[in-house]
Amino acid sequence: MKKVCIIGAGLSGLVCGMRLAKAGFEVVILEELTSPGGLMASTHMGSEYIELLPHHIRRTDKALHSLSRELGIDNKIKWYDAFWYGRASRKKVGYFDGGFATLINLLIQNITDHGGRIFYSMSVSEITRKDDGTYLTSCVLSDSRKYETESDYIIFTGSCRTFVNVSHGLPLTMNMRDQLMNITYHSRICLMMLMKKIPSDAYIQLKFPSNKDIPFARIVNHSACFQDRNYGGQIVYLVGKCQISDPLWVESDQKIMENYFRAYRSVYPAIKKSDVKSWRLTKVRYAVSEQFPETDLSEPIDNVFVCSSALTNNESSSGVPENRMDRITALAGEICTRIISKEKMNSEHKEEIVITAI
Ligand SMILES: Cc1cc2nc3c(=O)[nH]c(=O)nc-3n(C[C@H](O)[C@H](O)[C@H](O)COP(=O)(O)OP(=O)(O)OC[C@H]3O[C@@H](n4cnc5c(N)ncnc54)[C@H](O)[C@@H]3O)c2cc1C
Repeated sequence: MKKVCIIGAGLSGLVCGMRLAKAGFEVVILEELTSPGGLMASTHMGSEYIELLPHHIRRTDKALHSLSRELGIDNKIKWYDAFWYGRASRKKVGYFDGGFATLINLLIQNITDHGGRIFYSMSVSEITRKDDGTYLTSCVLSDSRKYETESDYIIFTGSCRTFVNVSHGLPLTMNMRDQLMNITYHSRICLMMLMKKIPSDAYIQLKFPSNKDIPFARIVNHSACFQDRNYGGQIVYLVGKCQISDPLWVESDQKIMENYFRAYRSVYPAIKKSDVKSWRLTKVRYAVSEQFPETDLSEPIDNVFVCSSALTNNESSSGVPENRMDRITALAGEICTRIISKEKMNSEHKEEIVITAI
């Protein structure tokens, strides 16, 4: 049985894990965090799950819909009228009953049902190629111990820059290394607040009455669109673009929260601090890639794949990266198809050799 080591338990790592475990591969997923989901990770809120970053589905998300059908959860996607304040547009957006945790948990269940294993708190520090053509992935554990695993295939799902940093032991060409390293990313800071009541009916607000000194670029009124559910209040996200060179990036969560909340109050002066029941801040270093490479970089060397949304073309006409979950689901599917067909060709080739020998 051929073994695949997948780095990252976000959407792409889990989709690859499920597809390949179902196809009979031995699957090992290594995740540096303590829980799955990556950018789509959720937390408990009341008796529900809620994403740490705001997410929704579009009707045009073909690969994501087909994945939901395959998992039998397409009936759990409910459609809502969403008003974009600032673009004056109204769109239908979808959200899973139970949140995106419904999708993530089911992917994990499918992986483990087919013998795949997921290890958390394992930060991959190096990938090397052995003389026999297989790969060795080394991790640093939270208690500084080392863990190593051998595999026939590697799928890396973190940022392209992180891939370059962990792949010094791989014979990548200088040109390939440079192209992957040149993919630059925007960072994001997102403040999620559980409020007694949110003061807007719009789903997404892109323009604010006073634009001065507002550190966030959009307000996402999750509960205004997807209704109250059982969070014990209403959810709002304040999502900001932030360079890591910005002094705000290194501030404490408390300081950033105060800074964001002050700006939120300048938009809604009636809001009081006591209206916030709880909050959580999320910082994402490699959130959105700035450009799409001209050449295909998804298999930089034989049997090592990079499955990153930075490598998928963003066809959005508005200039705002959209449908990234869909693009990454499609890329994960394509990479798995390539691995499965490579294995098929290898075994046909072996059969031919045996027949010739006979
Ligand atoms: C604020 C925000 C809102 C978004 N909203 C939407 C939306 O509404 N619709 C949409 O389509 N898309 C949206 N997206 C994009 C969507 O979240 C991503 O496209 C998708 O989650 C990417 O999944 P992934 O598995 O490719 O990457 P990730 O989710 O980043 O997963 C990569 C995983 O790899 C792990 N990892 C990285 N390096 C290592 C290492 N060295 N060792 C071990 N593990 C490692 C990480 O911890 C992570 O868990 C949004 C993104 C952001 C930032």
